[in-house]
Amino acid sequence: MDLYDITVIGGGPTGLFALFYAGMRGAKAKVIDALPELGGQLYALYPEKYIYDMPGFPAILAADLVKGCVEQAFQWPHAVCLEERVTNIRRVDDSVFRLTTDKGEHLTKTVILCSGIGAIKPRKLPAPSAAAFEDRGLFYYARSFDAFNGLRVVIVGGGDSAVDYALALEPRAKAVTLVHRSQFRAHPHSVSLLRQSRVDIRQPDYEVKEVHGDGAVQAVTIVHKKTQEESRLEADAILCALGFVSDVGEVAAWGIKTEGHGVVVNPYTMETSVPGIFAAGDVVSHEGKLKLIACGTSEAAIAVNQAMVRINPANKVHPIHSSNLTLPISAKVGAHNP
Ligand SMILES: Cc1cc2nc3c(=O)[nH]c(=O)nc-3n(C[C@H](O)[C@H](O)[C@H](O)COP(=O)(O)OP(=O)(O)OC[C@H]3O[C@@H](n4cnc5c(N)ncnc54)[C@H](O)[C@@H]3O)c2cc1C
Repeated sequence: MDLYDITVIGGGPTGLFALFYAGMRGAKAKVIDALPELGGQLYALYPEKYIYDMPGFPAILAADLVKGCVEQAFQWPHAVCLEERVTNIRRVDDSVFRLTTDKGEHLTKTVILCSGIGAIKPRKLPAPSAAAFEDRGLFYYARSFDAFNGLRVVIVGGGDSAVDYALALEPRAKAVTLVHRSQFRAHPHSVSLLRQSRVDIRQPDYEVKEVHGDGAVQAVTIVHKKTQEESRLEADAILCALGFVSDVGEVAAWGIKTEGHGVVVNPYTMETSVPGIFAAGDVVSHEGKLKLIACGTSEAAIAVNQAMVRINPANKVHPIHSSNLTLPISAKVGAHNP
C-alpha cells in the first residue's frame, strides 16, 4: 500500500485548495470524498448560484468555481478516491496514520481534515405536514434553477442562501414569496437588491404553518407569530434554506477534540488535538471563525505548510511565495496574463 505525505479528507473548496498547495510544496497527496463528485457543498447544494465574495471574481457560478479549483488542484497527479467515506483514523507509529474507509485502507504521514459539515443534512421545516411533500414540491436546496421556471415559489429563511435563492429565482419564476421569522442575516447589499425586486417579502415574524396539496405542493399557510393572523399562499414549490446541521460526531469518535459543531484547532497552525492531523474549512471551530470559502482556503494553506514541517522538520513553514515553488502550468498561465 502506497504511503502518502498528505491525505485530504473532503474534496470541497477547502480540500481542493489544500491539494493545490500540497502540489506546490512537492507533497505526494491524495483526496478522499464520500460524494461521487468533487466540489463539496458548492457542487452538491448550489452549483447554479453566484458567489460574490471570491477574490478576483466579481461574480462566479459555484459550478464554475469548482471547475477552476479542480483544474488548479490537479496540475499535479494527486490520487482521488470518490464515493469513499472515511470511517476511522488510527496512528500506526509516530509518523504514519492508517485511514479506514467503507472501501479499504490508506496510509499517510499527515491528514488534513476538510470534511465541512460532515454528511450534508439540511435543517428541516418544522411544519408538521412538511415531511410528506419532500421532493414533491418541497426542497432543501436548488441544484437547478431551471426547475423553478414559471412556478409560484415560496422561499423560507433569512440568511444569505435564502436571499440569494430569491434573487436568482425572481426573474424566472412566476412569483416568489420570501417568508422569514426574524431579521435578515444576509449580506446588506443582497437585502437591498431584494427590496428593489418584485419578491413578495413576508418578514419579520412570519412562519410557514402548514403545507397543502394532493400528492404535491399546492399551497402553504403562513402565520404572523405576533398577531396569529393566517394567510394562504398558492404555491407550486417551497424552497427551504434554513441552514444545515453539522455533525462532527464521527470525528470525535476518531479521538479528535471537538467543541460545539467544530473540530478544535490551533488557529496559528490548524493542527487538531492529534499531532499530524490538521483541519481547515467549515469543519473547524476557533475564535473568530468565518464559514466562508475564502477563509477555508487560507486555513488550508496554513495546514499544508505546517504538515510539510511535520513530515520533515528541515522543511520551512513559509514557502516564500508561489513563484519559488513547482508550478507545472505557470508558463501557460503567464502567457494568458498581460
Ligand atoms: C446555499 C449556500 C450558499 C453559500 N454561499 C456562499 C458564498 O456565496 N460565499 C462563501 O464564501 N460561502 C458560501 N457558502 C458556504 C460555503 O459553501 C462553505 O463555507 C464551503 O463549502 C466550505 O467548504 P469545505 O471544503 O470546508 O466543506 P464542504 O464544501 O462541506 O466539503 C466537505 C466535503 O467533505 C466530504 N466529507 C465529509 N465527511 C467525509 C468523510 N467522513 N469521508 C469522506 N468525505 C467526507 C463531503 O462529502 C464534502 O464533499 C454557502 C453555503 C450554502 C449552503
